[in-house]
Amino acid sequence: MQYDDVRRMTIPLYTADQARQALPAYPTDAPALDSYGRRINYLRISLTDRCNMRCVYCMPEIGMQFMPRPELLTTEELLLIVRAAARAGFQKIRLTGGEPTLRPDIVAIVQAIKQTPGITHIAMTTNALRLERLAQPLKTAGLDRVNISIDTLNPEKFRRMTRGGAFERVWAGIEAADCAGLRPIKLNSVIVRGMNDDEAPQLAALTLRYPWEMRFIEVMPLAGVADIAHDGVVTSAELIARLEAVYGPLEDLGLAPADSARRYRIPGAPGTLGFISSVSEPFCATCNRMRLTSDGRLHLCLLRDNEVDLRTAIRAGATIDEVEQIIRHAVMIKPWGHGLPDGVLPTLRGMSELGG
Ligand code: SAM
Ligand code: SF4
Repeated sequence: MQYDDVRRMTIPLYTADQARQALPAYPTDAPALDSYGRRINYLRISLTDRCNMRCVYCMPEIGMQFMPRPELLTTEELLLIVRAAARAGFQKIRLTGGEPTLRPDIVAIVQAIKQTPGITHIAMTTNALRLERLAQPLKTAGLDRVNISIDTLNPEKFRRMTRGGAFERVWAGIEAADCAGLRPIKLNSVIVRGMNDDEAPQLAALTLRYPWEMRFIEVMPLAGVADIAHDGVVTSAELIARLEAVYGPLEDLGLAPADSARRYRIPGAPGTLGFISSVSEPFCATCNRMRLTSDGRLHLCLLRDNEVDLRTAIRAGATIDEVEQIIRHAVMIKPWGHGLPDGVLPTLRGMSELGG
């Protein structure tokens, strides 16, 4: 049995009936706080589980079984959820995937979300393969900024790590995003021992030349890639030590509120460095986010399997008030944090379904 089949059988569903009858009424005039008092106001939306790359740390070598199209949220369903989430106090949206730019109506989606009352900020995480053409239309539609994945500056290694991606197209996408004003540009590198950890100094050197943020991400053990994560993780502490051996002491810029990255600067550099240490130093205490999968489930913590189903309720005719109530309930039952230190690994979804 494929892991997708297991997933469909085991993901706990929140049914339309529960939406109508069993939900306690949460106050609708207050922003959503979870049961630990964290204000949850950042929704990361995976627009599709499909992708035009196959990064080694994201998708298993045997490939993925993508979701059948009828299971994906329609644009109308997606925008209903965004409106309901905004009413529940969500202000910031990130579009991700899979590869969000594969969605044919991506520009219209950005425009509609930007016009949603209560949404103050909309960003995108993309592999940039299609950004050269899309950067300006996305900016015009209201996109505020982008994070772009780039794990190496060596085109041949890039092709290997992404199983076929073209470095030149990604670089052209980064330049187009910068030109269009999708700033500040943040670049994401997942560092895998023995693959690209040797390149961290060159990646960091981009910040000496450009006013960008170069972010180093610890590889996480999502479904399908747990092996690579187990053997390949390079902690942020180790990377910082390796960069300081090259550039001298880094200037510590601290942790911006509710940001996942601890930020540093090579003294004098126009750009900054970010370290996302979800494995070695989790930031669960300040977590402000939830994820929406492309099949319409709220995924409550990146590294746990708990989900709440919105699509079933919507397809059963739930009103926007009812969808808002389910979202508030999901916020209330958000787990405190992940269980990696206790050996609890997420098993049901891969990163390409969750969006990072
Ligand atoms: N396709 C887009 C991209 O690559 O930017 C968006 C989706 S991708 C899943 C979002 C982010 O997750 C990327 O920055 C990617 O590098 C990161 N990512 C993927 N697999 C990961 C893993 N196992 N551990 C940590 N980050 C991962
Ligand atoms: Fe695609 Fe992004 Fe995953 Fe790479 S990290 S396979 S670009 S979804």
